[in-house]
Amino acid sequence: MSNALEVRDLSASVGDKQILKSLDLAIPFGEIHAIMGPNGSGKSTLCHVLTGKAGYEISGSASLDGTQILDKAVDERARLGLLQAFQYPVEIPGVELETLALEASEEREMAGAEVRILEAASRFGVEGFLRRGVNHDLSGGEKKRSEIFQISVLEPKVALLDEIDSGLDIDAVRRVAEAVEEMRSPKIGMLMITHYSRILEYVTPDRVHVMIDGRIVESGGPELALELEDGGYEGLKKRLGISAVRAPAATKGPSEFFTDTPFDG
Ligand code: ADP
Ligand code: MG
Repeated sequence: MSNALEVRDLSASVGDKQILKSLDLAIPFGEIHAIMGPNGSGKSTLCHVLTGKAGYEISGSASLDGTQILDKAVDERARLGLLQAFQYPVEIPGVELETLALEASEEREMAGAEVRILEAASRFGVEGFLRRGVNHDLSGGEKKRSEIFQISVLEPKVALLDEIDSGLDIDAVRRVAEAVEEMRSPKIGMLMITHYSRILEYVTPDRVHVMIDGRIVESGGPELALELEDGGYEGLKKRLGISAVRAPAATKGPSEFFTDTPFDG
């Protein structure tokens, strides 16, 4: 059986800056993998490249349930079953969450959308904003729940969760993490990206990968997250004999953090 997601020797650059350096990653169906890494290590770039954001020079391959995706358009990848929950979910005033979920279900030719939407809305506590603009004036935790709700309705084969815990208070992190665990199923492989291990108190990933400076430098079980909790990335680097590679500070301007979608460019 194919893996939900399989990435081979994937590199990506912008101009002469290489961001991803020969990444390999395989997520079987039914598993949740975590990628942890300091700021600026390339975690979001990996999501962007997989979803098809323009502007990167790419080599290597990535397949979703056995189908190569890197040569496909963003919407084709989505129809094949790829979904990204954004680190910074965009607000779409004027488009109701329910309408988005209905239309997207229709695109994916899913039966019984109305019922499934209501069920998922109550399961993930988004009934209150089904009729509001997507993410419009929602709190951080509500935005993340809205993303989880969309994953649950659309049943992707691969969900990329980019810092699904960022900006949340501890109760919201727990709720979001429990929702991720609830979605675990043999029909989906999930990649959860985080730079704090606290969310991993509530979700138990099958594998944890550590990304530093565009490379996966170590993979292991949940105990790897505990090691990071104790010794930080510096401790891990010391154990691996990686000399003081400082992850470069983010070079993005503040406004770019609010255009984190694959649709520009
Ligand atoms: P992470 O999500 O791990 O914090 P990112 O993938 O956002 O890291 O960024 C990795 C590195 O690549 C950072 O140094 C960032 O500034 C840089 N980067 C990302 N996108 C671009 C771009 N379009 N142009 C130049 N540098 C970029
Ligand atoms: Mg990021």
